[in-house]
Amino acid sequence: MEYSLSEEQISIKDTIQRFMEKEVTREGAREIDEKDEFPMKYLKKLIDLGFMGLNVAEEYGGQGGTVVDNMIMQEEMSKICPVLAWATGNIMLYGNSIIGTNGNEVQKKKYLPKLVKGELIFAYALTEPNAGSDAASIRTKAELKDGRYVINGSKIFITGAGVADYVITNARTAESKFGGITDFIVDAKSPGFSVRPIKDLGYRGSNTCEVYYDDVEVPLENVLGGPECVNQGWDMMMRLLNEERLLLSACALGIGQGAFEYALNYAKEREQFGRPIGRFQAIQHMLVEMATELEAARQLAYYAGWRTIQGLDAVKETSMSKYFCAEVAKKVALQAVQILGGYGYTMEYDAQRYLRDVLVLSIGGGATQIQKNIIGKQLGL
Ligand SMILES: Cc1cc2nc3c(=O)[nH]c(=O)nc-3n(C[C@H](O)[C@H](O)[C@H](O)COP(=O)(O)OP(=O)(O)OC[C@H]3O[C@@H](n4cnc5c(N)ncnc54)[C@H](O)[C@@H]3O)c2cc1C
Repeated sequence: MEYSLSEEQISIKDTIQRFMEKEVTREGAREIDEKDEFPMKYLKKLIDLGFMGLNVAEEYGGQGGTVVDNMIMQEEMSKICPVLAWATGNIMLYGNSIIGTNGNEVQKKKYLPKLVKGELIFAYALTEPNAGSDAASIRTKAELKDGRYVINGSKIFITGAGVADYVITNARTAESKFGGITDFIVDAKSPGFSVRPIKDLGYRGSNTCEVYYDDVEVPLENVLGGPECVNQGWDMMMRLLNEERLLLSACALGIGQGAFEYALNYAKEREQFGRPIGRFQAIQHMLVEMATELEAARQLAYYAGWRTIQGLDAVKETSMSKYFCAEVAKKVALQAVQILGGYGYTMEYDAQRYLRDVLVLSIGGGATQIQKNIIGKQLGL
């Protein structure tokens, strides 16, 4: 198996690494977290560097890259500023990937070139107060009236909904649990559309919102994939699940790696009992386990990515990757706090931010328990 990165992938990694260290910086990441502010200023710089077209086909103005290229980018960003990685998801996953995979030709031509230029931000609204892990039980309704759909209901935990121009909205158009869901491209300026920001523990600045639809009118042409795709929303979501799991795996790897390097540097500098604490075997073993488990998680994630871009079945591998990367990163971030001792417990050091940010990665995008259910099924259980 080929393990080395291509020249293009090395260039993505190096460019993003330099950008994060020189343009975003740890201080910049801290400021975004403290102000709980969508990282628009850094997103704009990434747009200017041309990164938003990474996963868009060349005919729509993009670079035609793969999900593995995007994973490399997500991992590098997450080492210093995880919320910036999520902000790019508001263009690259909820915009580029959803429209690129499920949109019809008219929709691709209309939205993709603008997404590549960073002129549009998208959000994706599936979860509802009563439909989280059991996502297909959504109740938000879309009814056909006078040649247009009218949406009523609410969504919760929608990333970036307050800054989005369009919100891809899953709504019920028929009784059938899985076969009665349709995706709509909802203009956030529509009358009856409103949001309420929610304060989160981590990924502060990601603009998590509750979303309300009060007689929101949507033209037929805004059915994702076109009017012939009514009731195909669930199948459309399934087509993107591997990609979402891989990107969240990469976010976890980046946070884990960031927390590990932070703790490693600290352990080399902090002295107690006349020597750096990294020379105590207890601390050394902790750091060794962190490095080893992160490496194992990384191998699994990129193997799952490789299977995906080869067109091989990868449901089991992407689910394993999603849960394993999130759980390893969670453990690593917790150990980083321990290694920093009292300083790790203060808001003045970044260890706490890695820990707060990482916790959602075993909840969102299919919780660890749900990934294990999926793997169990794949094992024939
Ligand atoms: C910060 C953040 C951002 C998010 N962004 C988005 C977004 O942009 N768009 C969107 O649509 N959604 C988004 N979500 C929603 C996210 O996908 C859901 O939170 C997630 O699917 C879990 O749903 P729930 O929170 O309702 O938990 P529940 O489904 O109520 O689960 C609670 C607990 O029960 C466990 N559980 C549930 N069912 C089972 C089962 N069958 N077997 C074993 N254990 C089970 C879960 O694993 C979990 O531990 C976001 C969430 C957060 C916190």
